[in-house]
Amino acid sequence: MLLAEVKAMVMDAAGGDPVLLFALRRRLFIRLMYWERGTPAERTKLKAAKHKALSGLCAICGELMDVEGLESDRTDALDSYTAENTRLVHHACHRQDQEAKGFR
Ligand SMILES: [Zn+2]
Repeated sequence: MLLAEVKAMVMDAAGGDPVLLFALRRRLFIRLMYWERGTPAERTKLKAAKHKALSGLCAICGELMDVEGLESDRTDALDSYTAENTRLVHHACHRQDQEAKGFR
């Protein structure tokens, strides 16, 4: 299994050093997350560009949004956070929409 292989590789790379093992696991975790979600800088840049392009209006309720507290909602959850695959929404609108779709 892939996870077992990755674990064995990380353990091998750490060479029995618990501090290095901690650091390697943490780094791998963060890098995998950025691979899926993009880096914080990339996401901030995308949000700012979309906010400007959409005149700051929520894609769900159509009301004005502050840049602070808005969220990117992916159209296709399996695809990444790109300009084409995201819409900007209020946090509350996003939560209501997720609940309506059966996500929690
Ligand atoms: Zn809204």
